[in-house]
Amino acid sequence: MSGRYVVRTYGCQMNEHDSERISGLLEADGYLPADDVDDADIVVLNTCCIRENADNRLYGNLGHLKTWKDAREGRQIVVAGCLSQKDRNGVQERAPYVDVVLGTHNVHRTAELIQHSRVAGPITEIFDEAVVDEHVLFPSALPVRRETSYAAWVTIQIGCDNNCAFCIVPAVRGAEISRPFDDVVDEVMRFAAEGVTEVTLLGQNVNSYGRDLQLAARRDGDVDARIRPLFADLLRAAGEVEGIRRVRFTSPHPKDMRTDTFEAMASTASVCDHLHYPLQSGSDRVLALMHRGYTGERYLERLAEARQHMPDLAVSTDIIVGFPGETEDDFERTLEVTAAAGFDYAYTFIFSPRPGTEAAAMESSFIDPAVAGERFERLRAVVERSALQRHQARVGRIEEVLVEGPSRKDPSVLSGRTGQNKLVHFTPPRSLRAGTYANVEVTRAAPHHLEGRFIEVTHEPSHRTRIPVASL
Ligand code: SF4
Repeated sequence: MSGRYVVRTYGCQMNEHDSERISGLLEADGYLPADDVDDADIVVLNTCCIRENADNRLYGNLGHLKTWKDAREGRQIVVAGCLSQKDRNGVQERAPYVDVVLGTHNVHRTAELIQHSRVAGPITEIFDEAVVDEHVLFPSALPVRRETSYAAWVTIQIGCDNNCAFCIVPAVRGAEISRPFDDVVDEVMRFAAEGVTEVTLLGQNVNSYGRDLQLAARRDGDVDARIRPLFADLLRAAGEVEGIRRVRFTSPHPKDMRTDTFEAMASTASVCDHLHYPLQSGSDRVLALMHRGYTGERYLERLAEARQHMPDLAVSTDIIVGFPGETEDDFERTLEVTAAAGFDYAYTFIFSPRPGTEAAAMESSFIDPAVAGERFERLRAVVERSALQRHQARVGRIEEVLVEGPSRKDPSVLSGRTGQNKLVHFTPPRSLRAGTYANVEVTRAAPHHLEGRFIEVTHEPSHRTRIPVASL
């Protein structure tokens, strides 16, 4: 086929990675990326149902796209991702001009479905669960168009076996399935050979990686099932691949965090000193309502253990404010645990009900938005205080930064990230390509970024950075 496409991505890294696969599949089928939507023949909306009002936004965007589609014959609209998985036939019922609706387990079928719909008309294809074939489940056999040449996502697991009351993921992504160990390591090696130096291991609950493979092996009577690799082994193996300078992972679950993961992080030089460790609430009562499987105290104990292994660890988190039934005492406990944890940064959210989740049905205990808003500001002040303190402690230090490109605000300034995942802005004496590693002396700290003075290049990228995937 020929033509141009645009993929617009909403939501989490899993969706970003799925969009890379969708782009790769379309390019393998002969399509080229478009500069913008006016230049495109196909627009793919890769949706997320986590965000507030996701449905309204989707249908608002689709309304605009109907005008776009009507303006030129042959244009097609594709809706993929979690919202289509959840709404199923509802998407084409509300927007009959959408050509293809595909679910989270049907990404590998994108190009085929687009072609098929040209002949057959609108199609909705939603598999209820992943097709258990590693070439379909995981992207190794599928073309992927990465956004950068120096960094890559590596899916190690799909789905989630937990049942957090606020989360729709288990319903739209299905049960946890770990990707075979050798398949993951092979992909990391292939990326390294292509010039990738930073990989992010991706899953909904990465630190439970491999448990299902162990169980399956045991069921099959494998006497060595116990020694099947788990997440710590995967971290070590990925970190030892030649050419890989940084290994990141997201997201672990505090309930499943084990000492061997901290040991693997500490003993593998390329695994970054950064842990994203979602707290969600500091109140034991609210944590129980959320089904999180840990207490505030247990969370802090685990964090202390992580810091014993890695004294220079940066820690980020997610916290929900105003979960149904949250009292002032509950919230104060969240403030206490947050202050005690001393986060480097936090993604804080005011609770909003996601249709289909347990928490969405707790309507009688919803918190007054004004109360939730006021709590949100108090929490933000606590987070910003610790973030600033921890950033100020970096001033005067030499940090190695992976250059991402010009700063959004000032193109003469470059932005990059340290191993701790801190954003650093600095002005180099000459242009540096994205993917370069440079030593920078930290000269100033703010709650959300650092500023620094360029010292020297420590590593040049071996490949040219590709043009980013076009966006609307
Ligand atoms: S661990 Fe909880 S929040 Fe994370 S994906 Fe699973 S159900 Fe959702």
